[in-house]
Amino acid sequence: MHLNPYGAAAVTLAAALANRRPRDAADLARRCQEAGLVLESPVTDHDVVRLRHVLDTWEAIVDAGDDTARAGLLNGMLAVAAAYPRLTDHAGGWHLHYRDPGRPLGEVLHSLFAVGTALHLAGRGMHRLGRCAVGPCTLIFADVSRTGRQRYCSTRCANRDAVRRHRALAAQPHRRSA
Ligand SMILES: [Zn+2]
Ligand SMILES: [Zn+2]
Repeated sequence: MHLNPYGAAAVTLAAALANRRPRDAADLARRCQEAGLVLESPVTDHDVVRLRHVLDTWEAIVDAGDDTARAGLLNGMLAVAAAYPRLTDHAGGWHLHYRDPGRPLGEVLHSLFAVGTALHLAGRGMHRLGRCAVGPCTLIFADVSRTGRQRYCSTRCANRDAVRRHRALAAQPHRRSA
């Protein structure tokens, strides 16, 4: 996965893994590869455990009450990931890594999600990370839309909420306008 200047792929992968946590190492490996990540070493149970902690930390950033709290939590995640950026062409095409080479996948994902989320929020807007607005859905979305007004995890949830609002309106007693 090449971390583009807006971090879209990384923050989207973080949301997907948080919404449906990997079952085991094989599942994690498959889903990372599908997202375009080049795996440098075999994925182990240790990576799955490490990812669980990474996602718990990341979800706190999603649920932060305001921009300052969100930035503070993300800065904490970035500080742990600290490594100077370096150029690499390991997967064909030069791009930046914000981590040391040869790290296990769990560590790679920590750096990728921290930096990718920071690029996404700084580049597109601090509010562009949240949970679906229709209960009981709590799925996380990273808003990479043009308008930046996403409120639902999916079109399905948006439609569901529209139907619900329509029904609520229809159930109200009719009032004659004066
Ligand atoms: Zn790379
Ligand atoms: Zn939803």
